[in-house]
Amino acid sequence: MEQDACDRCLALSQLTVYLAKIPVLRHGEVEKDDGGEPVVLRPPLVADAAGLAPHPAQLARATVGVSEHRARSFAVELRDWSADAMREAAWKAGLTVLCSCSPSYPAPLHDLADEPPVIYVRGDLALLGRCPDHAISMVGTRHPTVTGRNASRRIAAGIGRTGGVVVSGMALGIDAAAHEGALSVGAPTIAVLASGADLATPGSNRKLYGQILDAGAVVSEMPPGCRPFVWGFPARNRIIAALGTVTVVVEAPIKSGALITVEQAMDLGRDTYAVPGSLASDVSEGTNLMLQEGAGAVIDGAHLAGHLLDRDSAPRPEAPAGGPEAAIHAALTNGPLSSAELGHRTASSLAAAELDDVLLDLELAGWVARRPDGRYRIVDRYRP
Ligand SMILES: [Zn+2]
Repeated sequence: MEQDACDRCLALSQLTVYLAKIPVLRHGEVEKDDGGEPVVLRPPLVADAAGLAPHPAQLARATVGVSEHRARSFAVELRDWSADAMREAAWKAGLTVLCSCSPSYPAPLHDLADEPPVIYVRGDLALLGRCPDHAISMVGTRHPTVTGRNASRRIAAGIGRTGGVVVSGMALGIDAAAHEGALSVGAPTIAVLASGADLATPGSNRKLYGQILDAGAVVSEMPPGCRPFVWGFPARNRIIAALGTVTVVVEAPIKSGALITVEQAMDLGRDTYAVPGSLASDVSEGTNLMLQEGAGAVIDGAHLAGHLLDRDSAPRPEAPAGGPEAAIHAALTNGPLSSAELGHRTASSLAAAELDDVLLDLELAGWVARRPDGRYRIVDRYRP
C-alpha cells in the first residue's frame, strides 16, 4: 500500500475528526459555544487553515470560531496524536494514504477549493487515475421507487459496458443500485464513504462493500475507524462530484443530498444530468426540476458514456517538448502552484505578463488547468 502523506496534512486530517464532533445545527453549520451566530463548518475550512497559525488551538479557533475552551481541548487531543501512529493504523486497515502534496493524490480533487488534506483508499488505487475523464458520478435518494432503482442499475451497467467507471456513495437506494449495475457487467466502480474507508457504511451494505473492493475502490477523507458524522455526508458528496466528469441524478426529491452534489458539481464546472420521472412522483421532483433548469436528460447509460468518454480519447504526448512550457509543466508535477510561485520555482527570466501568456497557452493546449483558487495544476499525466 502506498503511503505518501506528510505530518502536517495528517494532522489536518485528524483535526477534521475533532471538528466533526461540534454539534451540527443544519448541514454544514455549527453552533458557536458563546451562543453567537452559527458558523459554517466544512472541511474546506480545515484545509484552508494550513496557512494559518500552526498551533492547533489557534488553528482551531481561527478555523471555526470555537471557544477558547474547545480549542484547548483540541490541542490536548492533538498532543497525544502522532502522524506515525496514523500511518500505521491506515496500513493495518489496508488503506493507501495520500496527502494533497503527494504527486499520487487524485488530480480531480485538486479542483476542489476545499480539497481533502488526506485521502484514504482501499482497493484499486489505479482506478482513481481514470477520474474524472473516464468516470461518471451517480447519486440519488435513499428511498427510490422500484422504477428508479432499476433505472439506476441499468444506466450504471450501460456506463460500465462502455468503459466508464461509476462513482457513487454506497448509500441505500440509488447509490447501491448504481454500484450493483456496474458490478453486474464486470465493470469497476468507486464508492466514496462518509466514514473511514475501512468501514462498510451503512452496515447493511457489507456484502456490496466487499464486491466493490474486489472489483474497484473505496475512498474516504476520514481516517480509518472513523464513524460518519452528520456533515460528513454533504462533505463526502463534493468528492463524488469531483471524481466524475459529470454527475447523474436518478431520483431525488427537492430537498436532497443528491441535489447538494449537483450544486457542488456545477461549482466545479462539471455538467449535470437527470433521469426524467413521473410528475406524480415526489422522488422525481428534484430531477424533473433539474431538467427544467437545463440539466441534460439521461435514459441510456451507454449512450451517455459513449458521448462523454470519447471526447478526450485522442492520444497525447506526456509533456511539452521544451522551452518555458516544459519548465512550468515540470514544476507543477509536485502539486498545484500559483503563477507567482511558478515564477520563483522556475527561476524564470520571463516577465510576469509573459509567464501568464505561457500559462494561458498551456491551459488552451490542455496541459494545465486553472483551479477555482487560482492555482494551476497539470492534467495530462492523469489520462490513461
Ligand atoms: Zn501533505
